[in-house]
Amino acid sequence: MVRENRLSHAWLFFGPEGSGVLPLSLALARYILCTNRGESDSCGVCPSCNKVNKYIHPDLHFTFPVNKTKDVDKDSPVVSDDFIADWRAFLLSQPYGRVTQWYDAIDLENKQGIINTDESKRLAGKLNLKPFESDYKVAIIWQPEKMNDQAANKLLKLLEEPPPNTIFILAGENPDQLLTTIRSRCAQVKIPRISDSALHGALIEKHHVGPGRATDVVRLVSGNYLRAMEVLSEEEEAGSNFSQFRYMMQLCYGKKIPEMVKFAEEMAGLTRERQKAFLEYGLRSIRENLALHFNTPDILYITSEEQEFVPKFARFITGENVESIIHELSSAITDIERNGNGRMIFLDMVLKLSGMIKK
Ligand SMILES: [Zn+2]
Repeated sequence: MVRENRLSHAWLFFGPEGSGVLPLSLALARYILCTNRGESDSCGVCPSCNKVNKYIHPDLHFTFPVNKTKDVDKDSPVVSDDFIADWRAFLLSQPYGRVTQWYDAIDLENKQGIINTDESKRLAGKLNLKPFESDYKVAIIWQPEKMNDQAANKLLKLLEEPPPNTIFILAGENPDQLLTTIRSRCAQVKIPRISDSALHGALIEKHHVGPGRATDVVRLVSGNYLRAMEVLSEEEEAGSNFSQFRYMMQLCYGKKIPEMVKFAEEMAGLTRERQKAFLEYGLRSIRENLALHFNTPDILYITSEEQEFVPKFARFITGENVESIIHELSSAITDIERNGNGRMIFLDMVLKLSGMIKK
């Protein structure tokens, strides 16, 4: 339609989480604005594509749900432009991101984001200007369901009498929550979940996952690309917790004090969430070791590396020290939750663990 110059002026793309509604909207915007279009995609390298890739093209306008935060507060209602730097960072890190992740990215805490009347006024003002660089202006409205009624009615006016050379792309999940009058003004496209074979291919080509592993991930995520990325990063985290934990136990066993101090400093440099995740992993490991110590066979291993280490490690954990080891890890978690000094907490913990593990 772009090539034949019969592009509808308003689109409503909708589909389930992780199906790529927003990435597809961005791809269409990039194609419309590209100065060197190919048959089936934008060139990706022209100045226009470069600007779209950084989400800084002056003819590409974004509207998304926001609300007042600790950092962004003023007497008048806040609008998307107040958060544009956060928005760009969000898109660069994960354009498939869900709305709650966006709220976390701007520290909305327990508030909901909305698209308010000021937002629609601001958009109307921008779209009434001539395009800066391109033949078109493209307005992407992400999560249009979050418009309040006044904002929706203002947008409806814009859709009814669109400014010249303007393309609206509404990118949402639940079209039923939109005014019927808005829906009927848009060309509606339902984006299906990603097919298992396409997702399988993407995991192998873009994320260098082995074919067997890719099959396992695909089976878990029902065509949701975002979930697939989360499963991969959870696995990565589990792997790194394991090697850190093994390292820590080796230091404790070898009573290597200077290395312990360094270890505590490194751990203190992580976020509290990561520190806690590490200790919780440790607790789980100890319980599994305990099970192994008493020859319980039904243990779940994550990796083959772990399978090798755990039996050796099981020799240090005995009926005598297991209670105190579990106690040390648990109280470190409590201290971290109470905002204690990370360096002190970890150093104290490894020194005590070291005393509990007999050579
Ligand atoms: Zn281009």
